[in-house]
Amino acid sequence: MSTTTHITIIGGGFAGSEAAWAAAQAGVRVRLYEMRPVRQTPVHHTAYLAEPVCSNSFKSNLVTTASGLLKWEMRQLGSIVLACAEEVAVPAGEALAVDRELFAQVVTQRLESHPLIEIVREEVTDILPDRPLIIATGPLTSDALAQAIGRLTGSKRLYFYDAVAPIVDAMTLNMERIFVASRYGKGDAAYLNCPMTREEYEAFVDALLSAETVEPHDFEEPRYFEGCLPIEEIAARGRDALRFSRFKPVGLIDPRTGKRPYAVLQLRQENLQGTLYGLVGCQTRLKWGEQKRVFRLVPGLENAEFVRYGVMHRNTYIHSPTLLEPTLQLRSDAGIFFAGQITGVEGYIESAMCGIVAGLNAARLVKGMPPVTLPPDTMMGALLDYISHYAGKDFQPMNANFGLLPEPEPPVRDRHARIAANVERAQRSLREFLDGIQR
Ligand SMILES: Cc1cc2nc3c(=O)[nH]c(=O)nc-3n(C[C@H](O)[C@H](O)[C@H](O)COP(=O)(O)OP(=O)(O)OC[C@H]3O[C@@H](n4cnc5c(N)ncnc54)[C@H](O)[C@@H]3O)c2cc1C
Repeated sequence: MSTTTHITIIGGGFAGSEAAWAAAQAGVRVRLYEMRPVRQTPVHHTAYLAEPVCSNSFKSNLVTTASGLLKWEMRQLGSIVLACAEEVAVPAGEALAVDRELFAQVVTQRLESHPLIEIVREEVTDILPDRPLIIATGPLTSDALAQAIGRLTGSKRLYFYDAVAPIVDAMTLNMERIFVASRYGKGDAAYLNCPMTREEYEAFVDALLSAETVEPHDFEEPRYFEGCLPIEEIAARGRDALRFSRFKPVGLIDPRTGKRPYAVLQLRQENLQGTLYGLVGCQTRLKWGEQKRVFRLVPGLENAEFVRYGVMHRNTYIHSPTLLEPTLQLRSDAGIFFAGQITGVEGYIESAMCGIVAGLNAARLVKGMPPVTLPPDTMMGALLDYISHYAGKDFQPMNANFGLLPEPEPPVRDRHARIAANVERAQRSLREFLDGIQR
C-alpha cells in the first residue's frame, strides 16, 4: 500500500485538467502546476486551464464517427472537458463546438472550486521527485522541462517536430487501379502502388502547386531535413522533381500494362491489422480540404477516406512505443505517467482522454490498487494500444479513427456495417470493463 496521499500533475491543459478531475473525483488530493500566466506559451492567450489554442471545434458528436465514439466512452468515465463543453456549446450541426474562452473559463472554475485540487501557477523546470507524477505539458512543453524529459527518456526518444504524411482507410482504396509490389521485387510485396500516366502525373503536379497551404506560425521557423521536405516544395523544384524522387517508378512494373508507369505513389501499411495505409513521402503543409482534393487525383485514391491528414508543425512528443505502458506509466518508473499530446496522440479530445486514464490510474496507485488497461476494442483502448505498441519505424501522432480497432469477427465488408459492428462492440466492451473494475 502506497503511503502517498496526493498526486502531482504538471500542465493544466486538456490532459492535465482531466487528470486532476479524475483523480480528485476518485477521492485523491491533487497538486496541479500550470505555468501560465507567469510564463506563456507561443500560442495560448489566457491564464485559463484547458484553453483551446486554435479551432473551437471538438469534432463530431455522432457515435458512428471515431471522434463521436471516443466522446461517448469518455462520458462514461466522467469527462470534465466534455461536461463543460456541453454547457457552452455553440450551434455546429452534428459537431461539438464551444465558445472558446467561456469553455476554458468554466473548466478553470470547476477545477479551482474542487476541494481536493490545488493549482500552483509556476513553471516546472525539472522532473519533480513526487510520485505519482503526471507530465501533461503538451506540444509546447517549456524548454527547460523538455530538456529534463529528454534526460529521462533519452534525447533520441523526444521529438520536436511533426512531419506527417496523410493516412487513408484501406477499405476505401480502388484496388482495380492499385498493384501490390516491392521495388525490384525485393522482399515481400509490401507496398500498394498507385501507377500514374504522364497526363495523370502532370494533372497532380498542377493541382499540388496551386493548392492552398497552411502558413507556419512565427515560432515555427521551418528547418526541414531533406527527407522531411513537404511534397509541394519538392514539386516546386521542377516538373520532374517528384517522379525522380518520392514518386520514382524504377523497379516497379504495373501487371495490368506490363510496363513501368510514368510515376508511382506508394502506400505503406500503418498497422498490424492492415486497415490503415500511409502515403509514402507525402508530408505536406496543404490545407486539409486541399489534401483530399489533390491526393484523390491519384489513380486508386479517387474515393480514399483520410483518417489522418498530413501536418507539419511544432510538437513535443515522446517515443511512447518504447517508453510507455498502455496504462500511461513510464516503463522505467511506474510512478511517472505521461498524458496528452506529449504521448503521441493528436487533438484536444484525444489528449483529454489520456488525462482521464492517467488520473484514474495515478489515483489507483495512491489507493494501493493496480492500474487498469482499457480494452483495445474500445476507441480509448485502441489509441492507447497504438501509442504504446506501434511497431513501425516512424512513430507519428495519431487521431482517433476506426482503422485502429481490430476487425470485427466475422469480418464485415460493407463500410457502414463494419463501423456499426465496431461501435456496438466498443460500447459493450467499455460497459463490461467499467462493471469489472474495482473503484
Ligand atoms: C499551434 C497549434 C494549433 C493546434 N490546433 C489544434 C486544433 O485546432 N484542434 C485540435 O484538436 N488540436 C489542436 N492542436 C493540438 C492541441 O495542442 C492539443 O490537441 C491539445 O491542446 C493538447 O492537450 P495537452 O493537454 O496535451 O496540451 P495543452 O493543452 O497545450 O496543455 C499543456 C499545458 O502545460 C503547460 N505547460 C507547459 N510546460 C509547462 C511547464 N514546464 N510547467 C508548467 N506548465 C507547463 C502549458 O501552459 C499548457 O497549459 C494544436 C496545437 C498547436 C501547437
